[in-house]
Amino acid sequence: MVTIDERKAIIQPIATDWYGGQVAALDMLRLDELHPVISGNKWFKLRLNIRHALDAGFKTVVTFGGGYSNHLIATACAAKMFGIKCIGIVRGRYDVLTRALIDCKDAGMQLIFVTKEEYERKEDTAWIRDLAAHFDELFIIPEGGANEWGRVGAGLIDRFINDSYTHIAVSVGTGTTLTGLRNKLPHKQHILGFAPMKQGAYLKEYISEHLREGNNTNWQLIDDWHFGGFGKWNDELLQFMNDFYRTNNMPLDIVYTSKMMYGLRQMITNGFFATDARVLCIHTGGLQGNASVKDKLVY
Ligand SMILES: *Cc1c(COP(=O)(O)O)cnc(C)c1O
Repeated sequence: MVTIDERKAIIQPIATDWYGGQVAALDMLRLDELHPVISGNKWFKLRLNIRHALDAGFKTVVTFGGGYSNHLIATACAAKMFGIKCIGIVRGRYDVLTRALIDCKDAGMQLIFVTKEEYERKEDTAWIRDLAAHFDELFIIPEGGANEWGRVGAGLIDRFINDSYTHIAVSVGTGTTLTGLRNKLPHKQHILGFAPMKQGAYLKEYISEHLREGNNTNWQLIDDWHFGGFGKWNDELLQFMNDFYRTNNMPLDIVYTSKMMYGLRQMITNGFFATDARVLCIHTGGLQGNASVKDKLVY
């Protein structure tokens, strides 16, 4: 039974006080409202993948992630929802399972742990088939849902975005969501991709490679607000998230969307945008990732 209602993805204006009114509009597309776990962009990257796996008669989906991966837990829940078996190949060995891995298991995902070195082979199909030899009819979803189904699925987010926006802001992990959107949105809409890791500019290659002809235009990556690296944070970021919640009644996640909003506000203050800019931010979800800092957040 598939129970995601995409009408829950509303657009919420950000309080003018929060950004000082230096742009004409700053709104948030609340994809985080879709589902507590298969939230945000993960649903869009997975829906065509799993639909295809079912239609083509595969019995099991297999995918990849680390112990804190939003993609892994979203896949576990989506597979359960669609009634297909799933395997998660996990990077690193864990003596104690993380919350995310426990949730994956509870959703019925079979976990296979491999070392960080072995994990480097995540694109080696023969190795994957070997690892999961006791499962048949495997459909492989790459890490982060970064395949054509994922990109095309992410492009479906364009249905929530009208022409009046001049800029679209989105967090990037693999760049799959940004790529899907750039392939669908009108070229005149500028896409800003916020990388939550150090030197996120390396993602340019994947993105450019997967943009269809004529679409490699009017997008950029911003990697200035990583707070020390992927998954890293400090008290200032927590404080920022609490302030944002108090002002806008909207939760942000500590890995992706908080860093994007932090950077975006700096950019607005620094005059990056013209005063008539209309900016739509995409809330890509990931809120379950806040579990580790729950006692430090007001939500
Ligand atoms: C996975 C994730 C992203 C990154 O998406 P990509 O398509 O891999 O770039 C962004 N935000 C959140 C909250 C995520 O969980």
